[in-house]
Amino acid sequence: MNSSKKYMIYSSVVLFVLFLYLLSRHISLTTFLIGLLVVSTIIIGLLVYRQNNNTTKKYMTNLINQTADTLKEKTTDIKPLKTDISFDDIAGIDDIKVELLEVVDFLNNPQKYLKHKISLPKGVLLVGPPGVGKTMIAKAVASTASCPFYYQSGANFVQIYVGMGAKRVRELFETARANAPAIVFIDEIDAIGKSRGVGNNDERDATLNELLTQMDGFLTTNKLENSILTIAATNKVELLDDALLRSGRFDRQLHIGLPNITDRQKIIEQAIKNIKTKFDKTVLAEQTSGFSSAGVVAMINEAKIDMIKNNKNILSQKNIEQATTKIRFGKKQKKVLNEQQKQTIATYQASKAFVTKKNIKLYDEGVLFEFEPYVSLGSLKEQIAALLSGAIGVKIILDEEFVVFQSEIDQAYKIATDIKNKYKLSTLQPQEIVDECKKKLTELIKQNKKDVLKLRDKLLKTEEV
Ligand code: ADP
Repeated sequence: MNSSKKYMIYSSVVLFVLFLYLLSRHISLTTFLIGLLVVSTIIIGLLVYRQNNNTTKKYMTNLINQTADTLKEKTTDIKPLKTDISFDDIAGIDDIKVELLEVVDFLNNPQKYLKHKISLPKGVLLVGPPGVGKTMIAKAVASTASCPFYYQSGANFVQIYVGMGAKRVRELFETARANAPAIVFIDEIDAIGKSRGVGNNDERDATLNELLTQMDGFLTTNKLENSILTIAATNKVELLDDALLRSGRFDRQLHIGLPNITDRQKIIEQAIKNIKTKFDKTVLAEQTSGFSSAGVVAMINEAKIDMIKNNKNILSQKNIEQATTKIRFGKKQKKVLNEQQKQTIATYQASKAFVTKKNIKLYDEGVLFEFEPYVSLGSLKEQIAALLSGAIGVKIILDEEFVVFQSEIDQAYKIATDIKNKYKLSTLQPQEIVDECKKKLTELIKQNKKDVLKLRDKLLKTEEV
């Protein structure tokens, strides 16, 4: 007999005894019926409760366990990563290395700077696509300066419960501070660093506020024992909250683009350092145009696997070809640009280089503008022109409209909208402001087509102008 049935029998007996007792006391029928209703409701209620109780209990236990697990995980997973990467292991990106070596020198010789009351920069933001060595260089800073390296991905801070992400940030910085000088590296910071108020995400806003507080916490300290250098990486700097980029936070921004042909050659040399080879490295460097550094390393690894599979110990042209095919058509498919696509990108970037007169790389998305404390209408229009120049150049030279870097078009429209709505510098509609810039650019590029084409040829050859 199951427990519910037993329960029914006991209840019926209790009711029957109650009935006999009430009869003996001569109470009225109405009073008796009301009493019966109350007692039955209590019994039915108890029965339902007993049935649900087990499920509720299980649910509660699970919830408690999960919360406990989350808490446990948080306090135990903050450990420094082992890093034995040196600056020499990183091919290319020489300008970035120079900047970061300054920081390393500070960490190694603090007195040199502290006696002049110069404090360690608080934050360095590495901006660039995946696989270009952002994590690698941050690790190299930590190992060259013999500092512990605390790695966290921005996504790890995104929690369901409000306050959890903030707690994680606090714990990370507290642990780093206890082991200072230390490097905190936050990968994909855009996961928490998006502008506050966008999408009304309380948890993310709280986490970002905590990060800002933690970074500010060290501003007043001039002692190396308390110094923490926060390095963050992102590919979407335009999404970051302005507060993060302000002085004293991530005020150093270093842009890392896809490797150019010389860098790719160095990456190839690096990746084959310890094995015998028999293939043309220059040709491979040319063929991997548009690859990230990680992509080039992955390609060499595929070739090495093919060599091992064939029981050979010399990395041959055949292994490379096999790897290329696998990467082009196989499971690990990677976009390899054809000649026409390369021409389009080169035309786009050459037009940009011509208009902005800046150093431009073949695959580098985004023109860098120096921060101006007082914006002028002229400089904002210049930015719009720079952002649209590629698309206009392609239209004029190739007689076709391609969307090469969509984000640049979006940014141009955003600035035009800001000119009208935010800065109130023009009564023209954003579209009219954009059209005006387009008209001027069209004239400029049409008149200087020859020069743009020269730049394009150079870009195709050296990948940089
Ligand atoms: P990111 O953080 O920019 O996504 P990583 O630093 O994680 O890129 O790089 C991933 C892998 O790509 C590295 O482990 C390394 O093998 C290779 N790699 C990236 N950049 C370089 C470089 N400049 N020189 C040599 N190898 C590189």
